Amino acid sequence: MPIPEADIINVDLPPLTPGENFYLPEVFKGLGTTLKHMVGSAGKWLGGGQRLKTMEYPEVRREDIPLEQGGAHIPNFRGVHRLNRDEDGRVRCVACFMCSTACPAHCIHIEGAAAPWDDREKYPVKFDLDELRCIFCGMCEEACPVDAIELTYAYDIVGLSRQEMIFDKEKLLAVYDATVERKPM
Ligand code: SF4
Ligand code: SF4
Repeated sequence: MPIPEADIINVDLPPLTPGENFYLPEVFKGLGTTLKHMVGSAGKWLGGGQRLKTMEYPEVRREDIPLEQGGAHIPNFRGVHRLNRDEDGRVRCVACFMCSTACPAHCIHIEGAAAPWDDREKYPVKFDLDELRCIFCGMCEEACPVDAIELTYAYDIVGLSRQEMIFDKEKLLAVYDATVERKPM
């Protein structure tokens, strides 16, 4: 689905200050930040008291999301969406438009039609979700009356174009198939 021209927002870059135009102060500022982190990491490593957060991604993946902070479990990570299936493998969504109405980023587009099944009136013929426009607020899953849309723990979604990042119904159902073992919070 091509993005309508009216939905594309062009953002102008803010003008550089004289200091930024000179570049060198910013370069030294950046080097200072790097040095600060280097010293901090080396201190932790030498002290042995704290586990380093860096890892060899993608060979090593972070599976302990949600992160623990100060020993407390924080079960609120919100990653890529999935459209859930019901017990019969059908899309659970009943095309009620509650999620798209609640979405503050207007990134869900649904086309509903009469359901071919007796147990519901409607189902989504089309269900597109723009993952680049989404702000991962979780309002859609809060609004859904039938637990059809959820945000998973999957965090490494990539695409080579904007179009690729617009997840259609099949792609969202495929995310469900790939993440069905893990119930999002
Ligand atoms: S997480 Fe928020 S912004 Fe993203 S689709 Fe859901 S309601 Fe919209
Ligand atoms: S995902 Fe849920 S809230 Fe959104 S249209 Fe489908 S049933 Fe309604």
